[in-house]
Amino acid sequence: MKGLTSDYQLTLPAMLRRAEALYGPKEIVTRRPDKSFHRYTYADFVRRAKKLAVALGELGLEKSDRVATLAWNNHQHLEAYFGVPCAGLVLHTINPRLSADDLAYIIDHAGDRVLLIDETMVKLLASFRDRVDLDHIYVLSADGSAPEGLESYEELLSGADEERFEYPDFAEDDAAAMCYTSGTTGRPKGALYSHRAICLHSMASAMTDMLGIAERDVVMPIVPMFHVNAWGLPFTSTLVGAKQVLPGPHLDPESLLENLANEKVTITAGVPTIFFGILNKLDENPGAYQLSSLRAMIIGGSAAPEGMIRAFAERHGLHVLHAWGMTETTPLGSVCHVSSQLDDAPEDERYRVRAKQGIPGAFIEVRARGDEGFAAWDGESMGELEVRGPWVSGAYFNTEEGTDKFTEDGWFRTGDIVTIDENGYVEIQDRTKDLIKSGGEWISSVALENSLMSHDAVAEAAVIAVPEEQWGERPLGVVVLKEGAETTEEDLISHLAAHHPKWSLPDAIEFVDEIPHTATGKALKMALRERYKDYTPAER
Ligand code: ADP
Repeated sequence: MKGLTSDYQLTLPAMLRRAEALYGPKEIVTRRPDKSFHRYTYADFVRRAKKLAVALGELGLEKSDRVATLAWNNHQHLEAYFGVPCAGLVLHTINPRLSADDLAYIIDHAGDRVLLIDETMVKLLASFRDRVDLDHIYVLSADGSAPEGLESYEELLSGADEERFEYPDFAEDDAAAMCYTSGTTGRPKGALYSHRAICLHSMASAMTDMLGIAERDVVMPIVPMFHVNAWGLPFTSTLVGAKQVLPGPHLDPESLLENLANEKVTITAGVPTIFFGILNKLDENPGAYQLSSLRAMIIGGSAAPEGMIRAFAERHGLHVLHAWGMTETTPLGSVCHVSSQLDDAPEDERYRVRAKQGIPGAFIEVRARGDEGFAAWDGESMGELEVRGPWVSGAYFNTEEGTDKFTEDGWFRTGDIVTIDENGYVEIQDRTKDLIKSGGEWISSVALENSLMSHDAVAEAAVIAVPEEQWGERPLGVVVLKEGAETTEEDLISHLAAHHPKWSLPDAIEFVDEIPHTATGKALKMALRERYKDYTPAER
């Protein structure tokens, strides 16, 4: 027998309708490129999201066609978050920090038809525009203008009549948004989120034991809206009607601290590198910023070090909430609150727990697959973390690559090596992915190795992550030269600079006689990581 509950579909139009009905006067604030503030209300936001949906509907696109964005966190990007899916199209957020090759590949592979691009990113276009086939490129600018040859987003909106918008009835499993992961060995792969996944992710994120976001909150996502939907915060905030503060392109500690203080932000979120900068600034000027409203700084994307969690608490009375997630998990998987079982634990123990990646969110299930079956939940046995749940990907978009990430019984293999303790706290120990995470952005070690090995003097190269305080990890090149060949660190790094973004270049190259190998002849990265774990270039 089926239940007789109505089959109300969980969709973004329903979320927008709720915001329109209930939160009209609430504020949304954006820091513009010139640092001035743009302020409007949810009512304005809904009106403009509807206009966008109407305008996109008149472009002759087909259902589920992709509309890409290359933009910072601002109100126009937020309009796209809703206007695109409410037009029956798929919002495809793209990371502007990728190389031109990856940008061209992703836009082409996703089949993007329209691109909305931030005025501050227009210069990127030159590097890939002739390699992609887009029907329209609209520029999101503060004054509504667009450079020659491009169309204006503001003009697109001004030509649309929001009265023509009708809330559509989509199936909740229709695609709403997509985001590409960084390639490990292969190309980037697309995670495609359904309306239902985003709605459930938003509801669960708002739970007290997850991010605990409510109408009274003032939420400032520092994590870019091109990183897995800014961890879903624009959706979650809109669902509950929280005031939103969007920092635009200004991610320097001073601007962020000004926003936190002036807008009385209660919840903010970003990668450890950002908070490292904020911590330094606060240490330099204790008491300079009035942060008494701030009740949680959600840190994720890379491990939040225990020292940082302590420093914020002890020196500034600020609370870090450590969270773990992935592009394939929309992204929130686990959040680290100290549970009541630990009420009597000593303070040191509580800090140690808070540096773990936390307990899985509601309906997210975890298990760790070890060499001999699933690892016990004893806080010591290690295995690769597998997850399943209503907002975990079941496949990648339009590719056979990566199908081995999805198990036959419906779990996703994360590539994170973890322990799980008796209370269900997950702690990441290592990573199977051949990637380096620097300041929240991935660097492909394989791509750097291939480029190094294309240099005449190089016989073999391995690139590994070495821990670094500010960036979390930085790439180190380990190189074996061909017999009799000579080259320098500077030469190899400038060789790499021809094909890789500057921020992704190794800080140093170590020349060695031999690189250790696994039985199958691959570089034994684990051994190299161990050898260089305390490495700093200055020590050479
Ligand atoms: P995002 O855009 O959120 O960084 P990705 O899919 O690119 O998402 O990266 C996910 C990976 O980042 C995880 O598999 C894990 O390796 C790493 N990661 C995310 N959060 C944490 C965390 N809190 N601690 C350690 N590593 C993390």
